[in-house]
Amino acid sequence: TSSLVWLRRDLRVFDHVALHQALLESDKVYCVFVYDTTILDTLPRRDRRVDFIHASIAEVASELEQMGGHLIVRHGDPVHEIPALAAELGVEAVFCNHDYEPQAIERDATVERSLRAAGRQFASYKDQVIFEKSEVLSQTGGVFSVFTPYKNAWLKKLAADPSVLAPYNIEPHAARLAPRPAHAPALPTLADLGFEPSNLSKLKIPTGMSGASALFEDFLSRIADYNVARDYPAVKGPSYLSVHFRFGTLSVRHLVRTIVDLQERGAGGEGAAVWLSELIWREFYAMILFHNPHVVGTSYKPAYDAIEWETGPEADQMFDAWCEGRTGYPLVDAAMLQINQTGWMHNRLRMVVASFLTKDLGIDWRRGEAYFALHLNDFDLASNNGGWQWASSSGCDAQPYFRIFNPVSQSEKFDGEGKFIRRYLPQLKELSNKEIHAPWLAPRLLAPGYPAPIVKHDEARKRTLERYEVVKKPS
Ligand code: FAD
Repeated sequence: TSSLVWLRRDLRVFDHVALHQALLESDKVYCVFVYDTTILDTLPRRDRRVDFIHASIAEVASELEQMGGHLIVRHGDPVHEIPALAAELGVEAVFCNHDYEPQAIERDATVERSLRAAGRQFASYKDQVIFEKSEVLSQTGGVFSVFTPYKNAWLKKLAADPSVLAPYNIEPHAARLAPRPAHAPALPTLADLGFEPSNLSKLKIPTGMSGASALFEDFLSRIADYNVARDYPAVKGPSYLSVHFRFGTLSVRHLVRTIVDLQERGAGGEGAAVWLSELIWREFYAMILFHNPHVVGTSYKPAYDAIEWETGPEADQMFDAWCEGRTGYPLVDAAMLQINQTGWMHNRLRMVVASFLTKDLGIDWRRGEAYFALHLNDFDLASNNGGWQWASSSGCDAQPYFRIFNPVSQSEKFDGEGKFIRRYLPQLKELSNKEIHAPWLAPRLLAPGYPAPIVKHDEARKRTLERYEVVKKPS
């Protein structure tokens, strides 16, 4: 029998469940990646993610060839491409890994129907998370809505069955990979796909499996300090692996296994435990999205859809100022320049700017969510939506909505010496470490060209508390 493995957000050739399973069950295994026009056609012609995928696909193709296999690459709508390719190759089955986003679930269901109508099988596996869907439930069998009890249940489940971390080795069965045909076309260039290079390579963002592995190695050398270092945007604290989680150039099982091994040897300290907890946040949001697809576009807590956000030309101007880093609040502005220039933003700053947009400017979280979706290299529907709903208090958070970040005290606390701010806003470099968090209090001459604050935080805070009053009223 022969089969086709369809790669999507799992761009690697090691510890890969669908590939492993296909190799076990078939004599000949083809692999394909489809540049999905239903997604690509909506993007600007320079997009760091397309560059990232393009570079990572080149590595997958070359690694597969070294193992005696070959990567077929198509450009089109997978709903047509996959069944057509399966027919062309005459395979009995298509294998892939689960995707939990509503549109992807629909896409996969359509592909499955087409394949089955033609007498072929479709098989899909858990790969991008340790626990999925309803695997982690409360003691009464309910779906969790709060993180901490979910995390405790997740950790308990892992302790009860550490075999979920076992690797899915490819090498022993690699002889079943279908080899490169004699006249195989070359991989498409970015230009073939209709794109121009972004600044990804200039940013030195490592791509592919080798990039993920190098980043993880580097992070392991400083993981013990993660719990403290991760909060300071000027410090090299986090792992910078998010884009690799997004595109599956790493194996989550391998990462978690490494952390658990560290912990069993009494190493890794508080840093390793906190980092593992962040990986569990990722799974929590994937689970929330799977069980609550209404979070795409509406509030997790429906009462929050009664909030009246600021609209009209003035709100649009405020939104533009936020997007372009012109709010007059240095930490917010530097953070927005970070995302605009690099496609990544520090987690602390994601919380600060999201709180600022929704609770200082009174602008709908969905507008911020969409902006992040367009600009983040690591954009992930579940985590981004979860993060935005958390910041606007409409989501899964035990904290009440009157937790409103103060952009100046956040700046004083997490960028005390203004190092991060100065990196992105050199026009503020003359300000002292004390003045840099609120330049309007310093002599104007010292901050040439830097805008005055577009809102007064204290007044905005009051307006937000009034705006949010509606969530208390019965609808
Ligand atoms: P590390 O600190 O090294 O964490 C390791 C990994 O854990 C991350 O790569 C990520 O996969 C996961 N993780 C960490 N924090 C979170 C979190 N709060 N929620 C879910 N997963 C987490 N993360 C995304 O991957 N994609 C997004 O689109 C995204 N949008 C966000 C939007 C907002 C408003 C907020 C507040 C957070 C968002 N995050 C998102 C979560 C987090 O900010 C990033 O995962 C993190 O900054 C990525 O950097 P890192 O890989 O160095 O993280």
